Amino acid sequence: MDQDKVDQGRRLLILDDEPTVAMTVARIAERHGFTVRLSESPREFFHDVARFAPSHIIIDLLMPGMDGVEVLRNLAAVGCHANIIMMSGMGAKVLESAQRAGLERGLRISGILPKPFKPAELRALLDADADRALLSRATEADGEVSLGELEAALRTDQFVLHYQPKIHLATGRVAGVEALVRWQHPTLGLLLPQRFLPLVEQAGSMDLLTYRVIETGLAWFAEAGRGNELTMAINISGGSLTDVIFTDVLSEQCTLLKVDPARIILELTETTATRRSADTLDILTRVRLKGFKLSIDDYGTGYSSMSQLAQLPFSEIKIDKSFVAAMLNSGEAHKLVASTIGLGNALHLLTVAEGVENEQQLRALTELECEQAQGFHIARPMDGAAVREWLRERI
Ligand code: C2E
Ligand code: CA
Ligand code: CA
Repeated sequence: MDQDKVDQGRRLLILDDEPTVAMTVARIAERHGFTVRLSESPREFFHDVARFAPSHIIIDLLMPGMDGVEVLRNLAAVGCHANIIMMSGMGAKVLESAQRAGLERGLRISGILPKPFKPAELRALLDADADRALLSRATEADGEVSLGELEAALRTDQFVLHYQPKIHLATGRVAGVEALVRWQHPTLGLLLPQRFLPLVEQAGSMDLLTYRVIETGLAWFAEAGRGNELTMAINISGGSLTDVIFTDVLSEQCTLLKVDPARIILELTETTATRRSADTLDILTRVRLKGFKLSIDDYGTGYSSMSQLAQLPFSEIKIDKSFVAAMLNSGEAHKLVASTIGLGNALHLLTVAEGVENEQQLRALTELECEQAQGFHIARPMDGAAVREWLRERI
């Protein structure tokens, strides 16, 4: 275990005050291809977080004289992007709430390891992150983007769309795609939305970006959606909804490109959609009257009431990926997913689950009679040409 020469592979840092347990974990992880380091105190641990730059962290939440929750809070404060596995002999309820607190602070919690554990459980958790780690590398490329660069990007069309397929769970057939914006930055490469959307919002350019996305997406869909029944979903930020000409522009584009509005789904986050205002309801209603579909995105992360959901003119409910990620390890998350699907059915809303990363989640969602699914396990977001190829092979 070399102090400073750190390889590019998988590095695990363990914080546990029980050397025997920590050694067992270390041995299993080493045999699984990890370079491992052990810390017995938070001081030592935070030093290693900085110097050893672990890709994975295992923390015992219950250590005498140490507060595991406090350690999580500090990890969030230093912007830690490692995949975190929480370990404890405590009951599931406590671990689940610690997990939720960690996720809310933006930490990557891969899962929970009960004490005692089986080696296979540990190995599964250590592998569970591969997709997320890739995603984080893509977002962590060095360098900040500036307002000037953003303006240039809007002027010279550096924004591109990727498309992620969705399938019908009952048949496995393709249902449609979701358009996801990326910034093809001249020096930093392809940037994901979390890296630049806050800046776009701050610059007051969200409407402009939304129009670009609509224009590019509809032009692509006019071709890719011809001769099939596919749908295309577009993400709409809250700001665009207060724009009175928004619906008209969208409608005109569809007429121009001969795209049926019934095949276009506008996704609004739960928080945006339920922000109570007469304007929102007006615009949402106009959107539906023009024939578009409306989806409530990231469902479960906001605080919408059942009556709001029943009153707003939605056609679809999209279960947030954090619940899908947790549904196999957390009984509570599983119940939440099940009840959301039940609620969707009762209100005649199409139910879609996002963030499906493995076969077990796919199977669980099928059993719960969720209608559609999207996620890395089915397909990653791809550029326009690649996704057309993917679709061609499946339709
Ligand atoms: P979202 O609407 O929840 O989109 C789904 C996000 O989950 C996408 O991230 C997608 O790449 C990612 N994802 C898909 N499958 C999986 C999976 O199996 N596991 C995990 N962990 N993640 C998965 P992306 O593309 O980085 O977009 C992030 C967010 O940025 C979107 O979240 C959406 O809120 C926003 N966004 C994306 N495109 C646009 C856009 O054109 N306009 C606006 N206003 N917002 C956008
Ligand atoms: Ca979305
Ligand atoms: Ca979402």
